[in-house]
Amino acid sequence: MSAESISVLLVEDDDLYAQVLRAALAKSTPKVGVERRRTLADAITQLQATRFDAVLLDLNLPDSAGLDTIGRMLAAAPGIPIVVLTATAESDLAVAAVQHGAQDYLVKSETDSRYLSRALRYAIERAGFQAELVNREQQFRALIERAHDIVVLLGLDGSIRYQSPATERVLGYSPEELVGANVLEIVHPDDRERAAGILADWPHEEQSPDPLAPFKVRHKDGTWRVMEAAGRSVDSTDPMQGMILNARDVTERVRAQEKLLETEAKLRQAHKMEAVGRLAGGIAHDFNNVLTAIYGYADLLLEEFVAGDPRRSDVEEIRRMAERAATLTRQLLAFSRQQMLQPQILDLNIVIEEVQRMLARMIGTDIQLFFEPSRELWPVKADRGQIEQVLMNLGGNARDAMPEGGSLTIRTSNRELAASEAGAMDGLAPGDYVAMSVTDTGVGMPEQVRRHVFEPFFTTKAQGEGTGLGLATIYGIVKQSGGGIFVESEENKGTTFTIFLPRIAPDLATSSP
Ligand code: ADP
Ligand code: MG
Repeated sequence: MSAESISVLLVEDDDLYAQVLRAALAKSTPKVGVERRRTLADAITQLQATRFDAVLLDLNLPDSAGLDTIGRMLAAAPGIPIVVLTATAESDLAVAAVQHGAQDYLVKSETDSRYLSRALRYAIERAGFQAELVNREQQFRALIERAHDIVVLLGLDGSIRYQSPATERVLGYSPEELVGANVLEIVHPDDRERAAGILADWPHEEQSPDPLAPFKVRHKDGTWRVMEAAGRSVDSTDPMQGMILNARDVTERVRAQEKLLETEAKLRQAHKMEAVGRLAGGIAHDFNNVLTAIYGYADLLLEEFVAGDPRRSDVEEIRRMAERAATLTRQLLAFSRQQMLQPQILDLNIVIEEVQRMLARMIGTDIQLFFEPSRELWPVKADRGQIEQVLMNLGGNARDAMPEGGSLTIRTSNRELAASEAGAMDGLAPGDYVAMSVTDTGVGMPEQVRRHVFEPFFTTKAQGEGTGLGLATIYGIVKQSGGGIFVESEENKGTTFTIFLPRIAPDLATSSP
């Protein structure tokens, strides 16, 4: 529609009336250009070829009758403003025509030109306005329906009136599935009371705390997703109309945060162990000095008593007790990893022999302990306290792997590793090694556990039961001694840890104390 003229398609089979109309329209301002067709089919063809501002439509045409005519016309030219021409002032028909998409109707007998042009202008304006509304609605729909976040419209009682399509992607519920349900039904029981409180306060608040602390919400598959949400009244002047909730899935973010906190906790635990270790180490050192004095005085006393003096056995008991205390001190020092490194030439068989009693006590009576030493074992050079620590750690793990009991077997052997063999063994140089293996008949490990066992803090044990440092410490000790450690394990069959320590050259072995 331009300011000066309106172009109209007149669809009317009655020639006489068409002439009357043309005459009336010729006198109207703004000017009305008229094109006329006698049948609906012709009119539609014309509409598809030329643009018109409006259609004046007789409902009863040779090829169409009644309200159906409006529908067919609109199907061919969506949104075109239609003014229906009726023979009599039938208000029922007029209302029905508007319901079927016509903008207005004219009674044929009232063809005053002013009245005609006004009806046309209003029809055109109204149609334009409607088109804009549809357009805008489409835009708003797109905003909500294509949004990443979930948008829901809630009644004051928490009933869901609308769920946006993102609900399906995020929570698995198909469109409309939740409509009518109460939002509290899918909130985790832990969070339900808090959510109900927010809903109850709603009429007094224009908006929720922003954003709300995360809620756990049930996914259709039964899992729980962590959702962050923010709410607004539908109408700020009338919160009673309900609220709009924007919700987004923050499960992954929250999980990452928890993981970080967990790592921090482990780190703190490690620091604590280190501090305790340092404390224990310090005490152990002082304690050792005291023990040395006790030994010394006990020895002096023994010299005072002649053989057969009944008091000698008392003094010998004092010495034995001091020795036991010294063993404890060694363990404390091993734990604190503060023992001064005292590598010495060792016969592993002897070390194992001596640590056996302690080991047996630790693993309890349900687990049988076997020792199969190889004869003529080559000497190695290592810190005795550390080797004891290695055995105790391996024994502790074996015990944990055999809650129902079983057996623990320690074996030693001399091994000459050829280049081909050694290369496959974690960078061990070819040469002579002493192997010490610890085998249990416990639960074993799946591949994904076996791959990580030497990593610090890797543990499958409950919090407070495992630190994940046992094998990491062993690994450090073995590497420091120029050796290697390997694990073989099968689920429900058991586990063997084998440690290789380099054989010490014979001349070094004999020249040592
Ligand atoms: P922790 O004993 O504190 O868990 P470790 O470093 O000693 O730490 O062991 C790490 C993990 O290796 C254990 O949690 C366990 O899963 C696995 N593991 C170690 N030794 C054995 C074993 N003998 N049998 C089965 N699993 C074992
Ligand atoms: Mg352990």
